[in-house]
Amino acid sequence: MHRNRQTKILATLGPGTSTAARIAKLFDTGVDVFRFNFSHGSHADHRKRHRIVRALEEARGRPIGILADLQGPKLRIGAFENGRIEIKRGQKLRLDLDDKPGTAKRVQLPHPEIFEAMEVGSTLLLDDGRVRLKVLDHDAKSAETEVISGSALSNNKGVNVPDMLLNLAALSDKDRKDLDFAISLGVDWLALSFVQRADDIAEARKLTGGQAHIMAKIEKPSAVEHIDDILEIADGIMVARGDLGVETPVVGVPSLQKALVRTARSMGKTVVVATQMLESMVTSPFPTRAEVSDVATAVYDGADAVMLSAETAVGDFPNEAVATMDGVIEATENDKHYRAILEAEHAVPEATAADAITAAARQVAETIKAAAVVTYTTSGSTTLRAARERPSMPILCLTPKQETSRRLTLSWGVRPVLTDDASNMADMVERACRIALREDLAKPGQRLVITAGVPFGTPGATNILRIAWVDG
Ligand code: PGA
Ligand code: MN
Repeated sequence: MHRNRQTKILATLGPGTSTAARIAKLFDTGVDVFRFNFSHGSHADHRKRHRIVRALEEARGRPIGILADLQGPKLRIGAFENGRIEIKRGQKLRLDLDDKPGTAKRVQLPHPEIFEAMEVGSTLLLDDGRVRLKVLDHDAKSAETEVISGSALSNNKGVNVPDMLLNLAALSDKDRKDLDFAISLGVDWLALSFVQRADDIAEARKLTGGQAHIMAKIEKPSAVEHIDDILEIADGIMVARGDLGVETPVVGVPSLQKALVRTARSMGKTVVVATQMLESMVTSPFPTRAEVSDVATAVYDGADAVMLSAETAVGDFPNEAVATMDGVIEATENDKHYRAILEAEHAVPEATAADAITAAARQVAETIKAAAVVTYTTSGSTTLRAARERPSMPILCLTPKQETSRRLTLSWGVRPVLTDDASNMADMVERACRIALREDLAKPGQRLVITAGVPFGTPGATNILRIAWVDG
C-alpha cells in the first residue's frame, strides 16, 4: 500500500464499486480520496459506502478522504411522449413550462429563470452540446428556438446556457437535502457544481458550519471570470472539464486548465483535474496514449489530484484505471525534467510567520537532502502552506484532529497521520522520527526538517523549525 508519489488520486464510487471488497481493492491499488456523486444514487447507497470507507480506514490505520459532490442547479428538459424525438437543422422547437409530455414541436423546460435570462440570439446547448438551439423569440414562460445542430433529443437531457447569467440559487432543494445528509455522515469535502460566483460558496459555507472543506467546481464561464474571488473563499477547486468543455469552447479547455491550476497553486488552494482522464478504460483494460499524456500533463502542471469518474463508478476496469493512473503519476514524477517543469511556477511566500517558516523548511530540507518535511498542525493550514512549496520530499502532517488528517488526504505530497500534539521539544523530535520511520518516509541516518508552534498544544502560528536525525 506504499504510495510512491506526491500527486493524489480521487476516484468516484458507483454501482460498480460499492461493496467492501471492491472499495478496499481500489484503495489498495492507489485511491487516496473517494468521491460520492450525489447526481446518482440514494442516500442509503451513500450511507453504505460511507460506512465501508470508514471501516476500511480503521482497518488500514490510515486516514481516507471522502468528497461529496452535489449535483448543483443542473438544468434539464422534460420528457417526450415517445421517449425521444428526431430533429433536423433549421426546424423550430418550442420550449415552455408545461409539464405535458413533449412532441416533435415542443418540450418542457421547467426553469423560468432561463426564460428570464435569455435574449433573442441566445444559445441553449442540450445533451452535452450535441444539440444546439438558438432563441428566435421568447417571453417569461416560453421560447421559440431554431435547431442549429443535432439529430435527436431524448427524455430529461441536460441543458447548458453558457451565455446567460442565471438568477438561480446556487443550491437546489435537492442540494440542500444532500448537503445536510452529507454533513450528518461526516464527509471531509463538499464539492459544489455550476458555481457562478463567490457568494454561491459563502452560502454553502454557512450551511456546513465549517464541518467540511468546500470545493468549487469550475465549469461555467462566470466561474472562470470570478476565479480570484472564488479561490479566496473556497478551500479548493475542481477543473470540471466535462461541463466546462460544453459551456466554453472545448479547444480552450487545456489553457483554462493550466491557468486554473496555476492560480490555485499560487494561492495554496487544493486543485483537482477531472473528467475523461482515462475515459476509454470504461470499456477497455488499456488507456489510449492520449489519455496517458493527459494525466501526465496534470501532474507536470502540479495539480494536487487527478480524478476518475465513470472509469471507477460504472466502468468494467476500475482497478486497471486506478493502477494506470498510479503508474502514470509515478513515471511522470520520476522524469528528470519533472522538477524543473513543476518549479517554473514557484510561489512567493506571503509576509506571515507561518509562510516564512514553511518556505524556509523547504529550502533547508532541499539543501540538506532531508527525507521529509514534518509539520505539526491543528487546522492543517501550515501543512497546506508547506504543500504549496511543492518540495521534492514528502510532507508528513502530524495532527491531533481527525478531520484535518482526512481533509489533507487530497493535498499534494501530504501524508497525514493522526497523533497527539507534541508535549515538549524532545517529544516533538522523537514523535516525528518514530512516525516517519513507521510510515516508511525515512530511514535511520536520514534527516527530517520539522516545523511546529510553541507553546505546544495551543493551535496557532507555526514559529519553530528544527532539524532532526532519525536514528534506528
Ligand atoms: P460532473 O462534474 O461529473 O458532476 O458533471 C465534472 C465535470 O463536469 O467535469
Ligand atoms: Mn459537471
